[in-house]
Amino acid sequence: MRFDWTKKALARHKRAMALASILFSALLMTQPAQAGSVSRIEARGSQITVSFDDLVEGASTFSLIGPDRIAIDIRGGKAGRGGYASGIVKSVRQGQYNPNTARIVFDLERPAVITDGGFSNDGKRLTLSLQSVGQNQIASGRKSFLPPVAFRAEPPKSSYSVKVPLGKPSDSVSLPKIYGPNDPSRPLVVIDAGHGGHDPGAISPHGGKVEKNVVLAIATAVRDRLVAGGQVRVALTRETDKFLVLEERYGIARRLGADLFMSIHADAAGNEDASGATVYTLSEVASDREAAKLAARENRSNIINGINLGGATPDVSSILIDLTQRETMNVSADFAKLLHRESSRQMTFRKIPHRYASFVVLKAPDTPSVLFETGYLTNKDDVAFLNSRQGRSKVAAGVASAVEAHFARKLAMR
Ligand code: ZN
Repeated sequence: MRFDWTKKALARHKRAMALASILFSALLMTQPAQAGSVSRIEARGSQITVSFDDLVEGASTFSLIGPDRIAIDIRGGKAGRGGYASGIVKSVRQGQYNPNTARIVFDLERPAVITDGGFSNDGKRLTLSLQSVGQNQIASGRKSFLPPVAFRAEPPKSSYSVKVPLGKPSDSVSLPKIYGPNDPSRPLVVIDAGHGGHDPGAISPHGGKVEKNVVLAIATAVRDRLVAGGQVRVALTRETDKFLVLEERYGIARRLGADLFMSIHADAAGNEDASGATVYTLSEVASDREAAKLAARENRSNIINGINLGGATPDVSSILIDLTQRETMNVSADFAKLLHRESSRQMTFRKIPHRYASFVVLKAPDTPSVLFETGYLTNKDDVAFLNSRQGRSKVAAGVASAVEAHFARKLAMR
């Protein structure tokens, strides 16, 4: 289908470009005069050493599980490159989290915490002790470390917080209808049928079914089932064959104050034997190469004729996901497990039913979100199932019982 380059899209693009240049100059202006760069990172045994070529303001560390990681934020620091990993640390990555903060992420073999540490007398080296612990011993919160006062960089005078989201969802997208009980105290679930309009998504070699239509029918069945259950309110990001950029999809959920967001998709694979469903939740580290590739493919929805309609630069490093999202990410992961548990009686899942990757559509910082790949359009049985009334109603039944169990659990915890 031909893509119509509308005036609106063009205006949006221009706005994104203007924002990009403002953002760029803000970055230049706030670069602290004295920022030390990370010159060396070494993880050996139970010790991590980070060296700097100049003074920094301080550092803080925190642990994450699923996947297991430790992150170090260096205030007044600039990210360097690479790092040496061994032992429990599988790999080291670093990036500029914001103009004044470098973030280093250590991917771990198993959960671990920083027990102790400190800066050297000249402030140019940070040494941390690492200890592996059980999953449930990971405490939230940060551990902070400061260099000796005489060797501490001054915070920058003008500190901009660069929170200008490039390609912010346009508020002009009208909000969808809310179905279900007319009672704002009931939880609101936003169901997103993937793709739409000029973006067909995956195409089935068996009968030419396109993902955008298959998933809209499933999303509608899910909505009807949830409404019939009477427990929650439901909205669909799209009820017709229309295109939305990924940020608009979760943007709708945020503007409606949704309690749960689910994006529904169907996958395609070169191997026609590949079959079964997978639930994905957000992580800045993909759980495997396949998950990373899928996320890259789904994220491409925003790119038309080489122009990124979502506005976010495509090379925004995945570690820049705001890790304050961790609570939301944990709730999302819990819901993913519940969805698998409740739906596995109704439909087939893949061997690893819950995976992680960096999907743009899951990046609402405050709305628990999952992406449900309901099966493969390239697999004969899957496409027959997903495209049948009976199949759709089984998917809907699984989703509905997971959603109801999720909110019942939340209510019980209060
Ligand atoms: Zn898709």
